[in-house]
Amino acid sequence: MAPTPPEHAPIPVAILGATGSVGQRFVELLTNHPWFEIGALCASERSVGRPYREAVHWMQCTPLPRTAGAMLVQPCDPPPAFPLLFSALDASVAGPIEEACARAGAVVVSNAKSHRMDPDVPLVVPEVNPDHLELLERQGFGGGAILTNPNCSTIGLVLALQPLVRSFGVERVHVVTLQALSGAGLPGVPSLGILDNAIPWIEGEEEKMEAETRRILGRLESGRVHPAELTVSAACNRVPILDGHTECVSLSLGRRAEASELIEAWRSFRAEPQELGLPSAPARPTIYLDEPDAPQPRLHRGLERGMAAVIGRLRPCPILDWKFTALSHNTLRGAAGGAVLLAELLVARGGLERR
Ligand code: NAP
Repeated sequence: MAPTPPEHAPIPVAILGATGSVGQRFVELLTNHPWFEIGALCASERSVGRPYREAVHWMQCTPLPRTAGAMLVQPCDPPPAFPLLFSALDASVAGPIEEACARAGAVVVSNAKSHRMDPDVPLVVPEVNPDHLELLERQGFGGGAILTNPNCSTIGLVLALQPLVRSFGVERVHVVTLQALSGAGLPGVPSLGILDNAIPWIEGEEEKMEAETRRILGRLESGRVHPAELTVSAACNRVPILDGHTECVSLSLGRRAEASELIEAWRSFRAEPQELGLPSAPARPTIYLDEPDAPQPRLHRGLERGMAAVIGRLRPCPILDWKFTALSHNTLRGAAGGAVLLAELLVARGGLERR
């Protein structure tokens, strides 16, 4: 299907936290985006007033876009005057800044944890719970709004779960993660701490995965999200991989199913972003690979431009029903790419225009 054209193209946007690990991905994805145009790059006092190419420590494999490189970095306070803001702010400062921007009239699509669990803030994966965007109608941030993208490891998990939830129901989930270094932001984990090593602790990550998964898979009723009745246990680890979170998942289903049925559920899964033909929507949001040693971060994180959950190694679990491995790109689908897709969904539904 052809992409849905935006009503008013291009929509000027600003990036908050543009110099960080996720902010750089936003710059990459929004340069030459068909619907959005970067109008401002914002960061901390450390960067304000400097050309972006000097303020940023560019860590992407693609060259720094020339136009963005020449822009002078602006402050986040006062709020930049754009209708749509993408936030990749450090979580320690994101909450009040995003709120001030929303009160000033902007729609803020955030990657930070600060507002994710607010009862009236949508926490959305576009293929999984687009209906939760209705919460925006009840928000009390004046003319603007805040909507949020989940934690990077949660996004990969719920994408992999959703086709199974739809077809069979899911009751219990146990997940062990192997998370990439880019998920720790810049400058990141010191090399002497992570080379030849694995760190079995990422602050707050297990709690976020467990709570966010239940909320995203929950149902919206009477203007409130009722978390899914699903038990989730997460164990999170940092490993010396640059990009791509691997997740080893065991689960029990609501009804018996054959392996071929699970694989078919993943391979045939399509949702609203695909139906609308959104520019950042992967044609295949969940990919199942038959190779016995797949998925692998280096080989498979770039499939569907880093926007898919890549799944493999489905086999029976002697404790729960099934186990498998899922991989997703943490700064693309798990952060900037997921947030851009979310903004596209909002625009396609007329949610930006109504404000
Ligand atoms: P990061 O590399 O540490 O970048 C943080 C950004 O925030 C930088 O641009 C920094 O600007 C800016 N900043 C810090 N203090 C500020 C202040 N007082 N005022 C204005 N700007 C300020 O972090 P990241 O990994 O990109 O993560 C960004 C957010 O996304 C975090 O909330 C994180 O939890 C979340 N997230 C990250 C990932 C991932 O895979 N990395 C995935 C999902 C969600 P300066 O450079 O000027 O200091």
